[in-house]
Amino acid sequence: MALERTFSIIKPDATERNLTGAINAKFEEAGLRIVAQKRIHMTQAQAGKFYDVHAERPFYGELCEFMSRSPVVVQVLEGENAVAKNREVMGATNPAEADAGTVRKEFAQSIGENSVHGSDSAENAAIEIAYFFAGIELVG
Ligand code: ADP
Ligand code: MG
Repeated sequence: MALERTFSIIKPDATERNLTGAINAKFEEAGLRIVAQKRIHMTQAQAGKFYDVHAERPFYGELCEFMSRSPVVVQVLEGENAVAKNREVMGATNPAEADAGTVRKEFAQSIGENSVHGSDSAENAAIEIAYFFAGIELVG
């Protein structure tokens, strides 16, 4: 398996509780390398465009409000099988169902305020990375 990149967000519930470093440590312990990272504060419209795929879901409004409530840390993680590896480190969407040791089991507060986003495919990772980062910011 070749090196792969995935897109990650440390969400408002986690930045509010000063958990950026603790979550990054989990990524690095799992062999994921943070090759790009910045802290931004999204508008509701920017969050809405990012989560466009969920526009018809009942929680969409709540999700966009939450994601623009406080700053987030957007990042590109690189490693062998990075998309699947990151989903493993994150744990299930609902923290009540997440495995022990995962980010969401340890830090998430609810199914909505679940501390991290991670791309679900290499194709979506490329789209999501391009939404937040310019090519010149990706130095490997
Ligand atoms: P994941 O982030 O694990 O890929 P989804 O893509 O299904 O999960 O959902 C995107 C995000 O929407 C979740 O991470 C969570 O913040 C929010 N969300 C998902 N399901 C619910 C729900 N039932 N109620 C409130 N928020 C939800
Ligand atoms: Mg998803």
